[in-house]
Amino acid sequence: MKKMDDNLISLYSSSDIKNRVEELGSEISEEYEKKEPIFIGVLNGSFIFMADLMRSLSIDCEMDFIKVRSYSGKKSSGTIQLLKDISADVKDRNIILVEDIIDTGLTIKFLRERLFGSSPKSIAIATLLYKPSVAKIDFKIDYIGFEIPQEFVVGYGLDYEQKMRHLNGLYMIKNDLSE
Ligand code: 5GP
Repeated sequence: MKKMDDNLISLYSSSDIKNRVEELGSEISEEYEKKEPIFIGVLNGSFIFMADLMRSLSIDCEMDFIKVRSYSGKKSSGTIQLLKDISADVKDRNIILVEDIIDTGLTIKFLRERLFGSSPKSIAIATLLYKPSVAKIDFKIDYIGFEIPQEFVVGYGLDYEQKMRHLNGLYMIKNDLSE
């Protein structure tokens, strides 16, 4: 495996991310005042975004996590497997589903449909990153951190083969690390 740093191109610094997450937090706080939303984070990738987003809120809220698997390495497997379900009762609740990244949109579509089955009052979607040139979805993404090109991104919770989640910024991978 090549040395990691030579292969990373900086996309957003930790201060870019902090500023944008705070903007999203203010927007959500305004729109969800007195609605006591429940944030559902999609594991593993969303855990850092979720932690920062929740700490930027000025309203009461709850949280839970759901875990799915759809990717292996840099490729989508095309099928979504549920690895961990939520434990909260979301009937009549205002859900905000929190993703790290929307690529093809398959994962978010699967989760949204599944959660609608629990009869929530509403479901909104917040994603840190969105690839508009790839995503095929017919519903609204309510809160988007950054729109990005069709590149594989790591850092700030996003991995490459379970590594690099700890990086403070977001990076694109320049070359195939397996070369
Ligand atoms: P989708 O179902 O929208 O194609 O993909 C969603 C999931 O794929 C994300 O939650 C994430 O786990 C993974 N994914 C998609 N694109 C990327 C990327 O550029 N970098 C990383 N690290 N994961 C990605």
